[in-house]
Amino acid sequence: MFDYGGIICQKMGNRYWIICGLVFSSLFRVYEASAGDSDPLYRACIEQCEKTGCIAERCFSHCKFSPDGSFLDGPWYMQEPLYLRWKQWDCQSDCRYHCMVEREKERAELDLGPVKYHGKWPFRHFYGFQEPISVAFSVLNLLMHYHGWRSFFSLLYSKFPLKRDKSPFYGYMGLWNIYGLLSVNSCFWSAVFHSRDVNLTKNLECSSGVALFGYSLILAIIRSFNLKDDAARVMVAAPLIAFTTTHILYLNNYKIDYGWNNKVCTIMIIAQLLTWSIWAGLTKHPSRWKLWIVVVGGGLALRLKILDFPPYQGLVDAHALWHASSVPLTYIWWSFIKDDANYITSINLKKVK
Ligand SMILES: [Zn+2]
Repeated sequence: MFDYGGIICQKMGNRYWIICGLVFSSLFRVYEASAGDSDPLYRACIEQCEKTGCIAERCFSHCKFSPDGSFLDGPWYMQEPLYLRWKQWDCQSDCRYHCMVEREKERAELDLGPVKYHGKWPFRHFYGFQEPISVAFSVLNLLMHYHGWRSFFSLLYSKFPLKRDKSPFYGYMGLWNIYGLLSVNSCFWSAVFHSRDVNLTKNLECSSGVALFGYSLILAIIRSFNLKDDAARVMVAAPLIAFTTTHILYLNNYKIDYGWNNKVCTIMIIAQLLTWSIWAGLTKHPSRWKLWIVVVGGGLALRLKILDFPPYQGLVDAHALWHASSVPLTYIWWSFIKDDANYITSINLKKVK
């Protein structure tokens, strides 16, 4: 979409850039509005809710008005306990959610399928969590990474022999430790973001995801090419770190462009899976079958990340399934990392003897 617009604009010459910019920015504004929130019945419901604080018999705590129209108990964010204020629940978000639920009920009665509202599928909230299934699987994934990382660490330090300086014989330990840290961080922000989607949580989820995918690609190249030399490792890591950092800065300081970010993340994941799969095809590593499971499983899971279908029963969408599929893959992945540590340590021990 962006490229196509750029080509047309270039052909028209520089003086049309401004007109072009206006036309395309208005086009994007149209794209930003989803079918659900363009619906006149939904809009009427929002208008009435924001005026009265109620939908039919139901009134919302965040919409308490005095007769002059100001909030009764001060601004909404002063009414929440401190630990809940980051969720930024206010009268508008209450109205949007409940109007959406009402409209979806009416649509279901007419045998009409769900539509998107403000760019998102209609999810049923569960105890204040916006996408409860994605939250649950993000937390499960976090626990899986933490468990794998901890057992990897204790394996190296308590089960395998160490060098005289007390460092392990496995030369990739530091790199996998950073990977463990970035994975746990990414799962944590993913759980927070799926609990409540606001600008702050969106930025943190996106940035931690990009950092993890960028770093995983560096790690895939360093491990599969067996790069032991610091200079070679820096040559691989430097451009990828520069790109990943620039992309994170772009997202945080310029704009959160989901479409563009999805493309960047998808390319980084594909590059990583390709690197591992080529290595898995060439190596004699005793645990290469685990690598194959993760590569094939990761490829299939990536299809779920790209797919975009409405949530079943307002709970399970393609994205939630993607998070679910990551849980067993994470377990097998850390199992491969531990096998790799075992394999490399035994090779290095033979060299020492
Ligand atoms: Zn997610």
